[in-house]
Amino acid sequence: MLSDKDRIFTNLYGIHDWRLAGARARGDWDGTADILARGRDAIIEEVGLKWSFMPKASDGRPSYLVVNADESEPGTCKDRDIIRHDPHKLVEGCLIASFAMGAHQAFIYIRGEYYNEYLHLQAAVDEAREAGLIGPDACGSGWAFDITIHRGGGAYICGEESALLESLEGKKGLPRMKPPFPAAMGVYGCPTTVNNVESISCVSTILRRGAGWFSALGRPKNSGTKLYCISGHVNKPCTVEDELGLPLRDLIERHAGGVRGGWDNLLAVIPGGSSVPMIPKSVCDTVLMDFDSLREAGSSLGTAAVIVMDKSTDLIRAIARISAFYKHESCGQCTPCREGTGWLMRMMNRMSEGRAEFAEIDLMEQITKQLEGHTICMLADAAAWPIQGLLRHFRPVVEQRIADYKARTAPKIAAE
Ligand code: SF4
Repeated sequence: MLSDKDRIFTNLYGIHDWRLAGARARGDWDGTADILARGRDAIIEEVGLKWSFMPKASDGRPSYLVVNADESEPGTCKDRDIIRHDPHKLVEGCLIASFAMGAHQAFIYIRGEYYNEYLHLQAAVDEAREAGLIGPDACGSGWAFDITIHRGGGAYICGEESALLESLEGKKGLPRMKPPFPAAMGVYGCPTTVNNVESISCVSTILRRGAGWFSALGRPKNSGTKLYCISGHVNKPCTVEDELGLPLRDLIERHAGGVRGGWDNLLAVIPGGSSVPMIPKSVCDTVLMDFDSLREAGSSLGTAAVIVMDKSTDLIRAIARISAFYKHESCGQCTPCREGTGWLMRMMNRMSEGRAEFAEIDLMEQITKQLEGHTICMLADAAAWPIQGLLRHFRPVVEQRIADYKARTAPKIAAE
């Protein structure tokens, strides 16, 4: 379990001042000029993010950092807490990351509904500019750097990095074909790295404390800390920072007050936001919260948004609701996604009533396979996986629902 001294987000719950004075008291903006003085290569090597894909020397085009603060995966609410309560971590991280990749300008694309969070973020950017921490001579380093905040219009698909870039350019948020990847041709046709809020907000602390400290937390290849958002049928839903590789059961029991009605009342968990396959209680008993462990369990860490469902949950209805979400958010460019998400939603709605044939269970599974991996972006996969997870672990529940419906309606049909 993570000790308090190893916490990166020390104001996650907004107990302390989120403004510049409070951030400085927590150690933010401390020695930032010294970090920049280490040079681009040293910073990239220490942090180890995907910044090294950016061109080392400019061909005349500027480079950009874009931060994805669109956070629209259902169940996920961690960027919101960072931006509300610790916005200077993000602002300082943007400066360091941009410097490391040779960018003088960063854009933060924030979900439109996060209006109050936007106000905090804008205030933090303004404070940093007034204090000379960013601007023409950021922290006295000689590096010119500024941040522009862009508010999105509320489409889930704008969280997909290339759709986000389109939207940032003022166009419809339609995902782009790749290649070219953003590092070669991103926003305004220039080299761009898109990173998420949590990664960028961790950068300054990792550089101050050293990559060795960060990688000693968690397990090998699954190291560091993570913000987990725990929601659903738990006694105390929360966002919490802890190590990667912590047992799911510990996460729920220590931080979220346990499952409503006790651990044995657990039915299933969606461990990484609505798009990843659910895992049943038998897997939840032992699974660890990290990339490898959840992949071996047939799911994924995703956004680390843990959605807990106890035995009162109608799993078929829950997944039908998720199917409706993905159908609604499909941008419609790819036929398998545009048509398939609608088919899946309608089939899931019928299945939730039991109004289906047994053979349609296999048919529905086949449709999910025809979506998966056949489209421009991952939204189609996100629509397929929750249904695959349901059928992998709870197929008898779906069969029983159909059998019950048939039993209820058969006498009527016979009498007609
Ligand atoms: Fe649009 Fe769906 Fe294709 Fe993604 S997979 S580009 S959301 S149609």
